[in-house]
Amino acid sequence: MSLHRSRPALPLVLLALACSGTPRATSRPAPVADCCLELGRRIASDNRVAAITVRRFTHTDYWAAMEPALKSSSLRVTSVGASTQGRALRAITFGNGPTTVFLWSQMHGDESTATMALADLVAWMGLSPNQRDAVRDRIASRLTVVMLPMLNPDGAELFQRENAVGVDINRDVRRLSTAEARVLKSVRDSIRPAFGFNLHDQNARTLGRPGNQRVGIALLAPAAEATNAFGPTREAARLVAARVRSVLEREIPGRIARYDDAFNVRAFGDAFQSWGTSLVLIESGALPDDPEKQHLRRVNVIGILSALDAIATGDFRNEDPNVYMSLPVNDRSAVDVVVTGASLVLPGQAPVRVDISFNYDDALRKGRARVREIGDLDDVVALDTIVATGLFIHPAAAMLTTQRDASWLRLGSPVQMTLRKSADPSSELVREFGGNR
Ligand SMILES: [Zn+2]
Repeated sequence: MSLHRSRPALPLVLLALACSGTPRATSRPAPVADCCLELGRRIASDNRVAAITVRRFTHTDYWAAMEPALKSSSLRVTSVGASTQGRALRAITFGNGPTTVFLWSQMHGDESTATMALADLVAWMGLSPNQRDAVRDRIASRLTVVMLPMLNPDGAELFQRENAVGVDINRDVRRLSTAEARVLKSVRDSIRPAFGFNLHDQNARTLGRPGNQRVGIALLAPAAEATNAFGPTREAARLVAARVRSVLEREIPGRIARYDDAFNVRAFGDAFQSWGTSLVLIESGALPDDPEKQHLRRVNVIGILSALDAIATGDFRNEDPNVYMSLPVNDRSAVDVVVTGASLVLPGQAPVRVDISFNYDDALRKGRARVREIGDLDDVVALDTIVATGLFIHPAAAMLTTQRDASWLRLGSPVQMTLRKSADPSSELVREFGGNR
């Protein structure tokens, strides 16, 4: 751990932030940073780390893909520890400015969108200083940006949320029983960042309001205490989040939400806020036709760049807190598919009028699905509703449990069924699910 460097004016910066904390009751339109939408789009295409193309990749894949960019003299790579299984945790630092900003990603191993975006941003930050870029120069001179991508490489190896001992690192801030949580805490204590970004992927089935669209990005300035008050630290975070929203509304209009802000004493974001780091949580959800989250990767590049520049210029202070407060809150979670109006045909029984819902094992790639619920599902919101009024569902044997000569449809069973015109299994086929014959 040797991230300490001289940070001359940090206390002054913190003081300045502390003084900027009063929300202004104003209804004027929020200023929109013009630096970052087009520049972010350009970075996401021109500086895209081409070796990372899908959202599941390993620690080895990632650091190999980053290697060319990390040779840059503009970047400093520091070893900050190791995961439970011994994979190296590294911080990448850009800039020498007085305000320290800390970003970490993928503390949940199957949440890699921001890890991809950080790779692209690092590639841009590492461009030769001869390639002048006003935004990059500004960030480098005013900020010290410390990035810790893929905090949970063991989880990433299995594409699972938890670490290699099955612990959710983001519920370990009090005990610090995991190696990864200890590294995160020690980096924070070492650099004492003024701003922080906790980068995640949320449930891809989360819907927003109005219109029940899937949420692309959810933002949160987490609470620092159970009262949910906005002290100076959290106030600065919500103004930065407001800026991120202002810019991203032009990339993914109507697909931005606010994450649940109940104080969670076991979570790192809330703890960072209470430790005096203005912290923003960015959760990537899902966008249409984006199964590998490559559009969301670009959205993250734009959002993070906007936030960094707004902190570098101090312009986030001109944001309207209502731009953040007026975000629609994450609503309920949808199911992937519901089949309504049909009757279920089970061996030796009269057909039963039921709806069936199922979820794909991977909400974005689809493929194999499993039965989630059977019965009256009129109020269930599905991403895909199949109206099968008057038709008959014929499940394959693999979907059934049989005991004492009675069979029933098993919840959680892999979906393999046909929709037919009648209860007769040889009647006309209307639709097939899961390759059943
Ligand atoms: Zn997460």
